[in-house]
Amino acid sequence: MSYADIIVDISHENLDKSYQYSIPEEFREEAVIGALVIVPFGKGNRFINGYIVGLSETPKWKVELIKPIHQIVPGGLVIESQLISLAYWIKETFGATMNDALKTVIPVKKSVKSIEKKTIRLAVSVEEAENYLEVFKKKNNKGRVRLLEAFLGDSAVQSKGIDELEYELAVNKLNIARTTIQDLEKMGVITTEVEKLYRNPLNNKESEKESVILSREQQFVTEEIIRDYNAGKRKTYLIHGVTGSGKTEVYLEIISSVIKQGKKVIMLIPEIALTYQTVMRFYKRFGSRISIMNSRLSQGERYDQFMRAKNGDIDIMIGPRSALFTPFKDLGLIIMDEEHEGSYKSENPPKYHAREVAIKRGELSGASIILGSATPSLESYKKALQGEYKLFTLPSRNGEGRMPKIWIEDLREELKKKNKSIFSLHLKDLIKDRLNKKEQIILFINRRGYAGFVSCRSCGYVMKCPHCDVSLTAHNNGTLVCHYCGHEEAIPTKCPSCGSKYIAAFGTGTQKVEELVKREFPEARVLRMDTDTTKTKDGHEKILSAFANQEADILVGTQMIVKGHDFPMVTLVGILAADLSLYASDYRAAERTYQLLVQASGRAGRGRLPGEVVIQTYQPEHYSISAASNNDYDGFYNQEMNYRDLLKYPPAAHILAVLITSKDENKAIFAAKLLGGAAKEWVKTEQISEETIIIGPALAVLSKANDFYRYMIYVKQSNYNYLILLKNYLEGYINFSEHFETCNVQFDFNPMNSY
Ligand code: ADP
Ligand code: ZN
Ligand code: ZN
Repeated sequence: MSYADIIVDISHENLDKSYQYSIPEEFREEAVIGALVIVPFGKGNRFINGYIVGLSETPKWKVELIKPIHQIVPGGLVIESQLISLAYWIKETFGATMNDALKTVIPVKKSVKSIEKKTIRLAVSVEEAENYLEVFKKKNNKGRVRLLEAFLGDSAVQSKGIDELEYELAVNKLNIARTTIQDLEKMGVITTEVEKLYRNPLNNKESEKESVILSREQQFVTEEIIRDYNAGKRKTYLIHGVTGSGKTEVYLEIISSVIKQGKKVIMLIPEIALTYQTVMRFYKRFGSRISIMNSRLSQGERYDQFMRAKNGDIDIMIGPRSALFTPFKDLGLIIMDEEHEGSYKSENPPKYHAREVAIKRGELSGASIILGSATPSLESYKKALQGEYKLFTLPSRNGEGRMPKIWIEDLREELKKKNKSIFSLHLKDLIKDRLNKKEQIILFINRRGYAGFVSCRSCGYVMKCPHCDVSLTAHNNGTLVCHYCGHEEAIPTKCPSCGSKYIAAFGTGTQKVEELVKREFPEARVLRMDTDTTKTKDGHEKILSAFANQEADILVGTQMIVKGHDFPMVTLVGILAADLSLYASDYRAAERTYQLLVQASGRAGRGRLPGEVVIQTYQPEHYSISAASNNDYDGFYNQEMNYRDLLKYPPAAHILAVLITSKDENKAIFAAKLLGGAAKEWVKTEQISEETIIIGPALAVLSKANDFYRYMIYVKQSNYNYLILLKNYLEGYINFSEHFETCNVQFDFNPMNSY
């Protein structure tokens, strides 16, 4: 007898609450994961709908107590079924519990009411409000007085008035009763507004941009994809278009064609690029038929958005990775812009990659997939070259922009010229020039890199592990540690290469740079954008729009500023230390450096005025830097692919990362050793030891977090399925061993970041 785990209410929070039913012989074939079934439920055995989420051969209860499935609903891939099958696939492919996978994929209605953000504003003039205030004071209406004083200011305590007040603040901090607010609203003294971001953007005063005429290259891509689509062909495409080549215009045109046929579209963009500017382009074209998802939405709000999609109220969902699970019934197209972005990989279990899931979802729903990037991931480009994806190239900029001129400044030469400032002489000159011309400047600090690496300021030499191709990390106790193999050595006092004493841990913060800019160019107006200045809600948006409105001459920032923004007055981009991300202790360091440099350069010269870029570096000869300066993606790809092939890093092979954590360091080490041993045994019995590389256990880069000690094992294999089998084996091993009780073990396939 076979049994099925069935969930009967998928809008319920407890998705793990499944019931076991038996599968009658005649349904054996159709009883697959995701199938819609009718089952008897409860005491009265009334018939209700459910979905199969698991299958097994073993009963969980007394067999007599298990009821049989009544019926399997034919014709079945309704949207929930599709999403449940997708969850199952995610569980199998990325390693997670079915429950975690279901929670990722199925929109769950939370019992809490979704919170609206309400704002109160004065509806009358200040004079009128003052008159009201007098009246309320006389009547001793304290609540009303407090509220109006908040707007008008209180001369007694010399406080200034405000323009708007958050509703919840009024209620909770000013202790104003909700009825008081209601009364004042009825009297017409105030208004309350429920904020809906982008609710009616067409009322915005921004001028309507004429729709563009596509260039020949853009037209070619658009027509090819639409032709395939109309012929019923569903494929995965990769559009490799330089920054500003007009990929978005291509997307808009294809989306328009797809929705005209009654199909729906999911448009994925990295959260950080989800700015007002980007969203407006979609609104201008499609109006209120779009909806936006972002990580700030509560679970309730997300649920509401998803229901709008399910009910057919919208055609296009725009958002980061989670938008992928929009329950569109007639999905026709998924677009993934900036497909190389690390944020498309989930950091929590299931640690899925949105690109893979998008392609699987496309397969289940009959949708095409378009991946787009100026700097495609090696994974995608390799597949495109092999013909698995169809490749299109947009090699030049469109509209008014031209590709910027790129200079490389060797910082070792600057030191020789006794220039110890963080700006090369050339960059200084160009900054002065732009300030004179009233053009704008972006200064980009590459901080992604690991701040602890040690390098020589005279010759650029970097302390690396003698056994692994990664930089060593400085620890406070004066040692350098390799986080791949555990090698340790003392921090040198002299450069082992040139003998200079200028060897030290590297790292310059944005704040420091801002200070230095202000000191060097006192006349410049400077804005800074990093995690500190964007903590507040909309902080990000405010800085960008201030800069777009030319309220500042120089924008200083981290990777945040390089994503897809379009500032036509920016004619100079300075990249202060291009090398920093090269020394991150993971194999994607060069790729990430290349991407950052190209994307940052891509901010210059997007308008009518030509742009220039200065890349400052200690390693001008490094291929990621020279390729970026020549916009030579293929050159970079070939070099980097050689390296990946040689060391069997993705996409040359696959990696399974196993993270073992425990509060007890000895237990973590012991468990890690056990797992490492088990993995080695397993590959031996499977007779794949030859072609499998097992690294570790070793201390993780982040060796301790929240009092948990972290150890890693990395397994490299070219066959993904072996890694899944190994993971399943290790999971079983963990369950049967008592040494993991105080440990936590996590699996991550092809990790995007180092641990
Ligand atoms: P990408 O998405 O590749 O970075 P965009 O689609 O944002 O490029 O295009 C960059 C700029 O060029 C935008 O301001 C866009 O409006 C403009 N643009 C793109 N294609 C055309 C075209 N065919 N004619 C005129 N302007 C264009
Ligand atoms: Zn040196
Ligand atoms: Zn090492």
